[in-house]
Amino acid sequence: MFKALLVEKDDEGKTHAAVQELSEDSLPEAEVTVAVEYSTVNYKDGLCVGPGGGLVRRYPHVPGIDFAGTVEASDDPRYKPGDKVVLTGWRVGEAHWGGYAQKARVRADWLVPLPAGLTARQAMAVGTAGFTAMLSVMALEDHGLRPEKGEVLVTGAAGGVGSVATAILANLGYQVAAVTGRPEQADYLKGLGAQEIVARDEFAEVTRKPLESERWAGCVDAVAGVMLGRVLKQMKYGCSVAAVGLAGGAAIEGALITPFILRGVNLLGIDSVMQPYDNRVRAWERIARDLPMDKLEAMIQPATLADLPDLGKAILKGQVKGRVVVDVN
Ligand code: NDP
Repeated sequence: MFKALLVEKDDEGKTHAAVQELSEDSLPEAEVTVAVEYSTVNYKDGLCVGPGGGLVRRYPHVPGIDFAGTVEASDDPRYKPGDKVVLTGWRVGEAHWGGYAQKARVRADWLVPLPAGLTARQAMAVGTAGFTAMLSVMALEDHGLRPEKGEVLVTGAAGGVGSVATAILANLGYQVAAVTGRPEQADYLKGLGAQEIVARDEFAEVTRKPLESERWAGCVDAVAGVMLGRVLKQMKYGCSVAAVGLAGGAAIEGALITPFILRGVNLLGIDSVMQPYDNRVRAWERIARDLPMDKLEAMIQPATLADLPDLGKAILKGQVKGRVVVDVN
């Protein structure tokens, strides 16, 4: 038997999440059984612990889009008992049972060996949010971003993606301007390495202007909506925005084609879920190298399985600071 956060749906279609004891027989079929040590809370987890957001296919369901732990049994030659592994994406925790449990059973293709230099707890402090932040930085670098080119904007900065992006970029020598709607988090963001704090309100209005003054050499955007529309108009010539999230809306509002065709601005789409294996390994190696562990520690809010229903609601309201690390045991 093992403990898991099980989400069930009642006859009226309402979901209810509670910690329950399950038997190993209830785990889905797949090649590798993992003794989970830690999981975390991402925006998508908020949806899957609660009403589902169209992501969960079948109930009862075990959410948790990320986990790290130790292989207990494996039918695949790539993994053996005792191996330390990490999992993010592949719709685990949505279409397949996830990491909010002491045991998980998943396909070997979905796992990545825990990178040297990271513990399971640190890997979950990173989680999908931090992994995606690293993918964003890599994409911006691949498109020519260098510290001497100027300030890099991070939106939704006090959230998960934003916090890790801020810490990585600052550590790599970039001047980071952090956008937040929570002025009380200014000291936290400065502690992660942000040199400037920009109020969310500065990007709140849709402008009619096709372009604004050139300001940013790069941007990691977790917000979209009106904010992304404004940011695109403020990008320097030939520079790029990594579009990661939609915390502020699913459209790009008020943007014209002008920044793309007059300033050669690039909008780089970042997907963490279906990311190919080789690039996953590259991103995790970069995380172990370029994310200072003391900064990561400063982002951590510890939690247990029982805390998850409340944390799920909080992340959907943009109220979680940094990264939650869930000790499932
Ligand atoms: P968090 O909730 O931790 O962070 C989001 C942050 O965005 C908040 O903390 C807040 O930052 C800001 N924010 C929230 N609501 C609004 C709003 N209405 N207007 C402007 N800013 C707002 O979530 P994550 O960092 O985990 O994820 C961020 C986004 O990225 C989500 O949309 C998520 O779905 C997406 N995502 C995408 C991935 C991919 O593969 N592409 C992977 C991971 C996440 P502050 O208070 O500082 O302003």
